[in-house]
Amino acid sequence: MRYHAYLLSSHPSRTPSMPHADLKLDTPVGDTIKTTTCYMCACRCGIKVHIKDGRIRYIEGNRAHPVNKGVLCAKGSAGIMQHYSPARLRAPLKRIGKRGDGEFVEISWDEALGIATGWLGNIRKTDPDKLAFFTGRDQSQALTGWWAQAFGTVNYAAHGGFCSVNMAAGGLYSIGGSFWEFGEPDWEHSKYLLMFGVAEDHDSNPIKTGLGKLKTRGAKFVAINPVKTGYAAIADEWVGIRPGTDGLFVGALIHELLRNDWIDFDYLVRYANAHWLVIMAPGAADDGMFARDGEGRPLCFDRAAKHVTPASASGIEPAIVGEFILADGRRAVPAFQLLATRFLDAEYTPAAVTERCGISTDTIKRIAAEIADVAFNQAIRLPVRWTDSSGIEHEEMLGRPVSFHAMRGIAAHSNGFHTCRMLHTLQLLLGAVDTPGSFRYQPPFPKPIPPANRPGRNRRENGALDAAPLGFVHGPEDLVVDANGKPRRLDKAFSWEFPLAAHGMLQSVIRNAWAGDPYPIDTLFLFMANMSWNSAMNTTETMHMLTDRDANGEYKIPHIIYSDAYTSEMVAYADLILPDTTYLERHDCISLLDRPISDADGAADSIRQPVFAPDRDVRPFQDVLLDLGARLQLPGLVDDFGDAKYPGGFPEYMVKHERAPGIGLLAGWRGIAADKRGIGEPNPEQLKRYIDNGCFWHHEIPESARYYKMANRDYLAWSKGLGFIGSTDPVVLQLYSETLQKFRLAALGHGKQQPPEKDRARVARYFDPLPFWYEPFEWSGIDQNKFPLSALTQRPMFMYHSWGSQNAWLRQIATRNWLHLHPSTAALHGIVDEDWLIVESHHGRIEVQAKLHAGVEPNTVWTWNAIGKRRGAWKLSDDAPEHAPGFLLNHVISDVLPDLTYANADPITGQAAWFDLRVRIEKAPTHDNAAQTIKTSIKSSMNSIENSTSATP
Ligand code: SF4
Repeated sequence: MRYHAYLLSSHPSRTPSMPHADLKLDTPVGDTIKTTTCYMCACRCGIKVHIKDGRIRYIEGNRAHPVNKGVLCAKGSAGIMQHYSPARLRAPLKRIGKRGDGEFVEISWDEALGIATGWLGNIRKTDPDKLAFFTGRDQSQALTGWWAQAFGTVNYAAHGGFCSVNMAAGGLYSIGGSFWEFGEPDWEHSKYLLMFGVAEDHDSNPIKTGLGKLKTRGAKFVAINPVKTGYAAIADEWVGIRPGTDGLFVGALIHELLRNDWIDFDYLVRYANAHWLVIMAPGAADDGMFARDGEGRPLCFDRAAKHVTPASASGIEPAIVGEFILADGRRAVPAFQLLATRFLDAEYTPAAVTERCGISTDTIKRIAAEIADVAFNQAIRLPVRWTDSSGIEHEEMLGRPVSFHAMRGIAAHSNGFHTCRMLHTLQLLLGAVDTPGSFRYQPPFPKPIPPANRPGRNRRENGALDAAPLGFVHGPEDLVVDANGKPRRLDKAFSWEFPLAAHGMLQSVIRNAWAGDPYPIDTLFLFMANMSWNSAMNTTETMHMLTDRDANGEYKIPHIIYSDAYTSEMVAYADLILPDTTYLERHDCISLLDRPISDADGAADSIRQPVFAPDRDVRPFQDVLLDLGARLQLPGLVDDFGDAKYPGGFPEYMVKHERAPGIGLLAGWRGIAADKRGIGEPNPEQLKRYIDNGCFWHHEIPESARYYKMANRDYLAWSKGLGFIGSTDPVVLQLYSETLQKFRLAALGHGKQQPPEKDRARVARYFDPLPFWYEPFEWSGIDQNKFPLSALTQRPMFMYHSWGSQNAWLRQIATRNWLHLHPSTAALHGIVDEDWLIVESHHGRIEVQAKLHAGVEPNTVWTWNAIGKRRGAWKLSDDAPEHAPGFLLNHVISDVLPDLTYANADPITGQAAWFDLRVRIEKAPTHDNAAQTIKTSIKSSMNSIENSTSATP
């Protein structure tokens, strides 16, 4: 408005809709334009950086880029201020004061790398597992995981354990793919989208543009979310569900579909294991396993031939209900029958779940009827010929145009894995996985279920692990445990406590290192993980653990190395700082081996190229890691003479390194002639080809292969040809999970590997081969009458984790947060807008300021995440609102369960259960803004910590 007013007053003859020709909108604003990839959130849009006289003038979205097609969000534009942030680290630092005080001296890189090499060299010679190497929201896991494998430590992971591993694992163990950023709604054809709890930092611009397409076409968009922010704010219908009850809601939808026979039975027997026979032999070692023939093929009952036959046979009429006798006399029933029995139970009727979910029975029934109507009465048929994996040709592609998308909102609960599996079950019943109009896989997905790569456990002669530390467990034999079944990993991932922890458990590392449980470590090496602040549950106690000393006065975690580009809160708690560059000063690789940027119609990867040389004594972390590896003489990082194998650093590694013959970090322009894709010998010109193409590569899927990818002959061949999968066997979608049943059987006393006594009942209960809902653990462990409200953090769409608070432009949007609560909830407590109130959990209490917000379900309070900052961090002034009244809810979130038995996490995947938090609120009697404090009363192994503060260091 102001801009228009200016035009009108300056040029009264012109209207606001007719810009002055003299404005010369086409004139370049800079003298140079460089393409690269945005890193202001995890979406990884293509950008063009306009430079004038060596400084950035402007960042523009790259219209040719497959991710954003020119769209740029406010964060992306504000990358300028990230690059020039006063919080940038300037040189390597060595701690000279006490941990936490933030007193450092600048040192040379030689000295810094010498110190790191000394610590790490000793560990590698003695026990590589004494290095815990954990990274945060970096996009370099294809390098960091490989480096950890070469070092030989099992103690490696990135941040997925506290992000959305339930979503990833729930999907990969069910449909061989997942939502997150690995799949997408069919934006072109979907007529109905149900979205559960999605923040605006993954796949951000594609979702925004996709929602625009849906709304333009008049498709219905329903948001299931306790809070009406972000995407939910533009939904056609907002369903304010109570946190942690999504599984009940989805279970009730499934109940309604089953009750009304709104099921795509054809789809279920063609593409899923609905008809596979499950052995019914209570007490036996094979109870609940699939019946198989002598060649290991799952069996089904053919209704036409009236006998048991391989489930994958063509031309059969598989039974999906009934009881059948196998040739050896064992009883068996189809998996679908077990599923139907579960969800037709009274437990999942809309009437049974309505109160807990906070959603009326009418709404649940209506939504079930709406999605069924769209799926079956409004089915679409694309006139595209395709051939399935059995060789059967189809004239068209039948579509069920109901799509779903979900992420952390349903994942960050201790019941999240089964909730995610339940959501995939709902999709399968509708025939709505990778059909036109439904959810679509993005290459390299789908993968076999579970994916083939198992976690590394044993060391080779050269000290390297036999596989990367993270992977997918197929059964108890793959767990990373010792002979007594005790965890071998510091975070207890892949142990009987958290068997399918595919992304590790970064959130447990500091507690376990501090407690020496299961063993003490020597060095904690963190990259871009703000573990002393917003990346820690239980922030107050975590800061104590990082500074706690043993009886000899030595720190309980002896050495901490940290790499970051900025003075985040974690910097003060490290002994040695290796300063990273900004994202505009380095090469990066957005690899298909890591977190790809593919879309449903094509595979893609991309790079970052340095737009500027650093003007400080900082180095790209990837270069530093390769340098350290060479200094440590790690296998794969040095040549036969012991010299660095990649002296040119990460750009050289990106091009030359081969993970398997012909497979490297980048899939485009491989081969000497740059004419190979996916698989091909290294091409020295590869980076130039990427840069010439705007820093990305995109390869389209043939039209006949774009749907039914799990069983589409052309897709499976295309995917194998690019090295994404090892065989063209179809991926059979798993309604019933035999993998989970293997663990249950072990807990019931079968097999060589069985859980320790303390974990038996837990494994037996939660490793249910069919999804189910159970009450979140924190709720069961507390008096729910005392703590009646759920408390959530939401990701601000204008900031990415903690990074935004150093950014001058983004700080103009917000410098502080509030606790938002429904007006009716506020009235119950006598609270009015901007009152101060106390928020108390079973773990701690915090004083915050209230803002009333009708867009939240009344039993939930919420705040923006990571706006609150610790004084002394991010180069903010001492009176910055981020210190006070800004606050961090993490202070009242516990990283362990109320009874201290296990980490506060999902019992299958180890996903941090941030969103299980229950609190009570009351009006603060008095409030002294200048002395905002958090009093914590922590029930834990360290007894109590009193009077920690968030506002002061
Ligand atoms: S969505 Fe994320 S990656 Fe894309 S422009 Fe915005 S901040 Fe950058």
